[in-house]
Amino acid sequence: MCKVNDNYLKLQGRYLFSTIGKKVAKFKEDNPDKKVISLGIGDVTQPLAPAIIDTLHCSVDEMGHLDTFKGYAPDLGYEFLRSAIIKGDYKSRGVDISIDEVFINDGINSDAGNIQELFSVDNKVAVCDPVYPVYVDSNVMAGRAGTYDEDTQRWSNVIYMPCTPGNNFVPDIPKETPDIIYLCFPNNPTGTTITKDKLQIWVDYANRINAVIIYDAAYEAYISEDNTAHTIYECEGAKSCAIELKSFSKSAGFTGLRLGYTVVPKELKYSEVSLNALWARHYGTKYNGTPYIVQRAGEAVYSETGKEQIKKQIDYYKNNAKVMLEGLKKEGYSVYGGVNAPYIWLKTPNSMTSWEFFYYLLEKANIVGTPGSGFGPVGEGYFRLTAFGTYENTLEAIERIKKL
Ligand code: PLP
Repeated sequence: MCKVNDNYLKLQGRYLFSTIGKKVAKFKEDNPDKKVISLGIGDVTQPLAPAIIDTLHCSVDEMGHLDTFKGYAPDLGYEFLRSAIIKGDYKSRGVDISIDEVFINDGINSDAGNIQELFSVDNKVAVCDPVYPVYVDSNVMAGRAGTYDEDTQRWSNVIYMPCTPGNNFVPDIPKETPDIIYLCFPNNPTGTTITKDKLQIWVDYANRINAVIIYDAAYEAYISEDNTAHTIYECEGAKSCAIELKSFSKSAGFTGLRLGYTVVPKELKYSEVSLNALWARHYGTKYNGTPYIVQRAGEAVYSETGKEQIKKQIDYYKNNAKVMLEGLKKEGYSVYGGVNAPYIWLKTPNSMTSWEFFYYLLEKANIVGTPGSGFGPVGEGYFRLTAFGTYENTLEAIERIKKL
């Protein structure tokens, strides 16, 4: 008899954004006259840069000619894109990454969820609290998280590392020793980041205890401050303890095209086993590959014109973040993030819970945000707004909040 993987049955609630989507849809149905502004889900709104569109057109044409047609892509991605990544994201920062350490994917969500397959189910995972939900849920699905405690809202076998204003949203080294450490900087949901010195402390710690760091750098393109590492490999010794995930979604507006990459250094070995070789095997067996035309579009991101156009887009979202940060501060809100990331993390006023504030903002100002408690128990009493709306909607949202 077929038995289901009952780890899936342990998953808590629904995926946060589908819950929000349902509540917003109901509100819109009941209030068809209201113009709802969404600053909830972290999805971009600006169209793809012209350099990317031009490249897409050209590569679509290539697919229509006998001599330039492409079939299955190489398992780990085309060399032209992997070379562009190495040159644009690593060599330019003095970091030496080789082509066979880069794995091209269709956005990093799948790798963020699947990478845990490389590790024994006995391993202990450490995550920040609040946290991007995929890291925890994928470990629950794999049977690594233990049992869920409704009271503490925590999994028995997961180490939670609180991130609060008290530690500048940078986790302290946990008392219990982890085997797998998930770090995400600049951070979603708090919009804050880590200095290079503090990241070095984590790298040294991971090397000392023989743990692996899964480093999610999805928002690296939003870094504004100098003392921040753009890649974990800027830290000494990171190649022997860290896997890095980088996405084109928020850096170049590829949420609809789908492109990202994972770096698994060849130095990364546990009990003499190379994670790079295991991950290559994973890709060969389980991954469909990223379409040629999307990989060409990714290459265009690193062209001079592409870089210029994309910088304008990022500056546009960063300006939205600035508008929100300044506007909310003026209104007396305690706000965090928004300088090195497209997210604002605010303390809910008048001791409202995160969900109370969600309904308050939706009903009184017709603005959608994300309740902080959806990212973990320490997120309770906080709320996330994104800078990915249009400039006009961002301004209007702040005006509406002022009138509350
Ligand atoms: N990691 C973080 C921290 C994110 O916020 C997101 C998307 O919002 C992802 C990963 C997934 O990115 P992608 O679109 O590349 O799958």
